[in-house]
Amino acid sequence: MNHALPVLTFHDIVRERTRCRGDYAEPLMRHCLRTLHRRGFTTVDLCAGVAALMAGERLPVNAFAIAFDDGYASTLEMGFPVLESLGFKATLFVTTGEPQQETLPTSNGRRMLGWSDLRTLHAAGWGIGSHGVTHRDLRGLGSDELEHELAASRRTIEQRVGATVQSIAYPYGHHDEAVHAAARRHYRYGFATTRALTDGAGDPLALARIDMAYFNRRALVPLLATPLLGPYLRLPRPWAGRGAHSAAA
Ligand SMILES: [Zn+2]
Repeated sequence: MNHALPVLTFHDIVRERTRCRGDYAEPLMRHCLRTLHRRGFTTVDLCAGVAALMAGERLPVNAFAIAFDDGYASTLEMGFPVLESLGFKATLFVTTGEPQQETLPTSNGRRMLGWSDLRTLHAAGWGIGSHGVTHRDLRGLGSDELEHELAASRRTIEQRVGATVQSIAYPYGHHDEAVHAAARRHYRYGFATTRALTDGAGDPLALARIDMAYFNRRALVPLLATPLLGPYLRLPRPWAGRGAHSAAA
């Protein structure tokens, strides 16, 4: 049994590897998730898993969670079929834009999901969380702007999808005490994107996830399925501490 949960976080899924940090090649994603499936891993609902850890419970050693950020069309077109074939579920954190728009906003020209797509994913058992209204760094925003990013994104998802929204993934993974304090009024859980397992020891508004950009080579995939994952993530890296998101993610 484990005191921590690996939360594997993807952004855009692409057909072939690119130099963009937020991109993850579909063949590698498929290889990664098939490897975990073959070794007996199963997904748990992200919020339920975190709630269990916060309550001091342990999770099965083969439990993990999957998240997709931003709301790219590739989530449904390439991520969803692979997950469905393996019996895996995920949580999708979307940047909502304004509620009257039918498609999620893009920050880099890529195709995005529409609200009907989100309803499809939610009906298939996926969780839906907030990633803000405009994908701005929430640190340093005025109190009205911060409140809008937090409250309106949640409200839009609840209205357009009918999902209960308990969690937010901070754009670019950036957060501070002021963001936590404001987010606490709207969400039970707040997630960054970094290199650590999610555990129940810290602030529920400052939870870690594993950016899959750190596992973008086939040789690294077996680490995800071993007890060495936690120690591996704690190894110092020259790039540790930098924002894990590219500007587009
Ligand atoms: Zn993002």
